[in-house]
Amino acid sequence: MSTAQEVKRLDDLVARDRDYAYAGIEAGKLCVRIVAVADLPTRSGDFHVVAFANNLDEKEHIALVRGDVLGQSDVPVRMHSECLTGDAIGSLRCDCRDQLDAALKTLGQMDRGILLYLRQEGRGIGLLNKIRAYQLQDQGLDTVDANLALGFHDDERDYAVAARMLASLEVESIWLMTNNPRKLQQLEHYGVRVAGRIPHAQPPNAHNRFYLETKAARSGHLLFSDEGGVDESAKRETESRGASSPSE
Ligand SMILES: [Zn+2]
Repeated sequence: MSTAQEVKRLDDLVARDRDYAYAGIEAGKLCVRIVAVADLPTRSGDFHVVAFANNLDEKEHIALVRGDVLGQSDVPVRMHSECLTGDAIGSLRCDCRDQLDAALKTLGQMDRGILLYLRQEGRGIGLLNKIRAYQLQDQGLDTVDANLALGFHDDERDYAVAARMLASLEVESIWLMTNNPRKLQQLEHYGVRVAGRIPHAQPPNAHNRFYLETKAARSGHLLFSDEGGVDESAKRETESRGASSPSE
């Protein structure tokens, strides 16, 4: 399908959601809608950027859509949570930018796929609290204890809005690019059909090795060294879920 047709179909979603107003929605009910769509050529390939509004966290999330995803099954999806220090500035305290770059590069070579860029800075605690947690880590706490010391959970992120964003894009089922088993569980909890997992761990650097090992030991993340061969790991998960291979 040509780019022009893909944009036309995505534009139709803006029209679909135009009258899907917050007015009349009772308190606490989740309303996610697409407000704008545009082309977004990137250094990793050509995407469409889809802008969402919602009434739950009221943050301005986006989806980067590659190819035609509407009504499709087995769509490769990466959910990336915003990290200003990593994504934009290139901080080496975490692996966020490596994760983002690798996801865009992978998706940019596929016929179709989606990257959800979620504005959940600092595993959901926000930018200022993330810097407070860094300060505590400079004093010797690990990333989990620092969050706990500030009165937060280890991971405050929630994927209810992300699940509805995928539903808004009329995606039938996904293959999730992740090394975080919690993301799979949450998406399935919120009704997304997850056909399988595509391993997405990146090699550590000297600054983030302890951070990554802490996430693995205390939060159940899978490390680069855990993943072994990508094909083997994906195959194992596929078999356990009884799903077919992704179209890519
Ligand atoms: Zn980060």
